[in-house]
Amino acid sequence: MDTNLTIYDTLIIGGGPGGLTAAIYLQRFTRTVALVDKGRSRLGWIPVSHNYPGFPEGINGAELLDRLRAQLANYGGRVIAGEITGLRIEDGLFVGDFLSPAGDTGQLRAHTVLLATGVADAGMPVERWDEAVAAGAVRLCPVCDGFDVIDRRIGVVTSEVNPVGHALFMRSFSTEVLLFERSAESTLTDEDRRQLAAANVRHVLSPLVGVSMSADLKPILHTADGEAYPCDVFYPMLGETARSDLAAALGAETVECQKLLVDERLRTTVPGLYAIGDVTRGLNQIAVAAGQAAIAATCIHNTLPWSLRQRP
Ligand SMILES: Cc1cc2nc3c(=O)[nH]c(=O)nc-3n(C[C@H](O)[C@H](O)[C@H](O)COP(=O)(O)OP(=O)(O)OC[C@H]3O[C@@H](n4cnc5c(N)ncnc54)[C@H](O)[C@@H]3O)c2cc1C
Repeated sequence: MDTNLTIYDTLIIGGGPGGLTAAIYLQRFTRTVALVDKGRSRLGWIPVSHNYPGFPEGINGAELLDRLRAQLANYGGRVIAGEITGLRIEDGLFVGDFLSPAGDTGQLRAHTVLLATGVADAGMPVERWDEAVAAGAVRLCPVCDGFDVIDRRIGVVTSEVNPVGHALFMRSFSTEVLLFERSAESTLTDEDRRQLAAANVRHVLSPLVGVSMSADLKPILHTADGEAYPCDVFYPMLGETARSDLAAALGAETVECQKLLVDERLRTTVPGLYAIGDVTRGLNQIAVAAGQAAIAATCIHNTLPWSLRQRP
């Protein structure tokens, strides 16, 4: 890779569904693109997604990533494995510091940058986490898969903002929803308790201290008073932090959970710096990331000067 001389039209940071879709659009606009990806897309965690349009049988997340990479390759694009560790503006160009998996470093220069770096999920001690997520026993996205757990026994933990919101949301899918406190100090208001009672959500007062897995990979929720509550599905509702540091260092405005503020064309508050997908404020969904990618890529293409095509 020539990391010093080439000036790309766009440096895309992140190769999940957002970054890959944007790269496909920009390659098809005949733009020069460098897409750098660290390889930790949340899409890769999804056993089967049933709400992404066009796949009536559902689609495995890793398979969807492979398909997007293959589609990008059809137009001459590729994913550069590695990380952008710093981003700055020099002489009117963006300069990204590149670190390869082997430890090699370099710089990538571009007229525009599109950040598609996603979010980092906050951790919680859950036994056999990877296996449990892969089997759908632990789930992270009620919007994605509430339909898939209809009539199961569902455990939910209070979240920092609107502590009862997820439990009430899940109540439209199951009669058996248990809400656990995340800490000894309950943050629930009287109104929250009234809503739980009205919806017949069981509120477990003793705080959750750990989650183990049964032999058949069902979550067992353990509370501080020594009780154990077997469930079919557990939604930890951990909270998340947007990976927006690179943009924030350039002065881009962030809101809750460090998510980036963008306008209707996915422009951040730094000219030439775009952001799409989970790293921006909004709904964390594959379809949203792909839709935002289409808008941002088209805006980038229309904003940069067009080169006139020569006769072949
Ligand atoms: C268990 C689970 C189930 C889900 N189910 C569904 C579902 O059914 N339907 C649905 O619509 N959504 C679902 N989601 C959400 C969906 O996965 C995300 O909304 C989607 O992946 C967001 O895409 P993205 O491109 O914004 O970010 P991501 O897919 O997270 O990709 C970001 C990429 O950027 C890379 N990166 C970060 N920083 C850097 C850097 N500095 N340099 C280089 N690369 C970097 C990361 O390594 C990663 O590869 C689910 C998520 C989880 C965890």
